[in-house]
Amino acid sequence: MRGGEEVTFGTSGLDRAAALRGQPEVLAGLQAHGRVLPVWRGKPLFRAEGALGWVPADHKVLADAAPLVFLGLEEDGQASFAADLSNWEPESGSGAEQSFFDQSRQPHPALDASLAFEDLRNAMMRLSPRDAELAATARALVHWHRSHGFCAACGAASAVEQAGWQRKCPACGAHHFPRTDPVVIMLITKGNRVLLGRNAVWPEGMYSLLAGFVEPGETVEAAVRREVLEEAGVPVGPVRYLASQPWPFPASLMLGCHGEALDEAITVDPSELEDALWLDRQAVLQVFSGRHPVVRPPRKGAIAEFLLRNWLADRLD
Ligand SMILES: [Zn+2]
Repeated sequence: MRGGEEVTFGTSGLDRAAALRGQPEVLAGLQAHGRVLPVWRGKPLFRAEGALGWVPADHKVLADAAPLVFLGLEEDGQASFAADLSNWEPESGSGAEQSFFDQSRQPHPALDASLAFEDLRNAMMRLSPRDAELAATARALVHWHRSHGFCAACGAASAVEQAGWQRKCPACGAHHFPRTDPVVIMLITKGNRVLLGRNAVWPEGMYSLLAGFVEPGETVEAAVRREVLEEAGVPVGPVRYLASQPWPFPASLMLGCHGEALDEAITVDPSELEDALWLDRQAVLQVFSGRHPVVRPPRKGAIAEFLLRNWLADRLD
């Protein structure tokens, strides 16, 4: 769709300079004048005004960090890196990742008091497209390293390679690459109405477009039809791709699609959804303005909000 890359975490044209990943001497030189984004337990560092909290590579806060991950180069030659600080234990607060609307700010004693670790979902709307792409990439890669420390082939501890874009097993030689898990998220319409559903664990009043992981051996279109039929009992005919969104919570790529329902009758699978409903454009306008009696406004920055907003404006082409 036109404007599809304007979605939050849509591309900013970052030069990832992949050819440099295997050149440690060049990267060491870039690092000396580069900048590093610390990430602590999934939360990037932010300045008080909402920009990313970059620090120089020789900052003392990075003393115990995992190996730096190279994110890319700016036009002026400045290099950006990410560092995992998750081993740091704060004196107070659990630091546990929370699923929804985590507003907490975690300062660090080695950093200026204006800096704090925050949930990226809470802060993503304040970022420039470039910083959003860098933060999403940093969060996804740091999480991958934390959760893939051991070789999937033989179980030995693996090591970081290619400036953070691979892991290699010293025991069996296997190479491992960062995961991205495709998820379909679908605007299902029937005439003037759109299908929304809610999961039982979501905050009250939160509804969204239906979504689900693409299964091995399945096309995007088939995944859309299967998920909607499984979750809501609604058969879907034509399906087309609209726009995608990297969603690093922890490793998804959201594939936004439009599907046309063949029938309106809903049969919710209670193991998947608590409720599903059809809303017409007037009702969705009420939702967006916060005046709907049941459904709260969708989370700004998420592709569901983006697709619904563009559907309302008749801008899906
Ligand atoms: Zn191995």
